[in-house]
Amino acid sequence: MTDLQSNNNLIERYQGVCNEVNQLCTDYASPVTLLAVSKKHPIESIEQIYQQGQRCFGENYVQEGVEKAQALRHLDIEWHFIGPIQSNKSRQVAEHFDWVHTIDREKIAQRLNDQRPCHLANLNVLIQVNISQQDSKSGIHISEVSELAKAIIDMPHLTLRGLMCIPAPSDENHLRADFLAMKQAYESLRTNNANIDTLSMGMSSDLALAIECASTMVRIGTAIFGQRN
Ligand SMILES: *Cc1c(COP(=O)(O)O)cnc(C)c1O
Repeated sequence: MTDLQSNNNLIERYQGVCNEVNQLCTDYASPVTLLAVSKKHPIESIEQIYQQGQRCFGENYVQEGVEKAQALRHLDIEWHFIGPIQSNKSRQVAEHFDWVHTIDREKIAQRLNDQRPCHLANLNVLIQVNISQQDSKSGIHISEVSELAKAIIDMPHLTLRGLMCIPAPSDENHLRADFLAMKQAYESLRTNNANIDTLSMGMSSDLALAIECASTMVRIGTAIFGQRN
């Protein structure tokens, strides 16, 4: 395949995902942000879909994300960190990203708050919920959301915007049950806090179901960029 053909495929896939998300927003009368998950894909691909109007990009690995953000600092991109955070990498996340989707303990939230540079706007954060209760996965139990939320709301350099989940791969009924449990937790958090406006759920394989269940932000990698290496 020539470079030109692969560029055309990228743009076609991107436009296909935009159309699908827009149609679902119309069907369910709810606005949804498309986060393009660019992990393991080159800077050129990010620039390609930026030129099509995409502004929000998600990265999982600190080093890779920071390198991309620095290389593209002339562009008006909102960078979302969506991978697990280790304490020793929190400073780089606090300095280079606009959002973090994977807060699962008070200690890491406190570090991000303390390390957020004062000249930057607050870091937007989401609490990650281990909705399918998988041993191997990060995230807190859904019953612990309100306690962690209270702690984060008191941190002056963070703005708690909502919740995020990565459900276990499963059939549609189990996935729907997980998504609806997230919706309920999100709505109860929202009744107490005006800043809560984001429910980050849905990936390439389940974005329609997630939007049906009240997702406000879908994180899409493969359906836009193709398979990762
Ligand atoms: C990789 C990743 C995605 C994107 O997954 P696709 O199936 O490629 O759309 C979304 N969210 C998180 C947290 C990821 O790590």
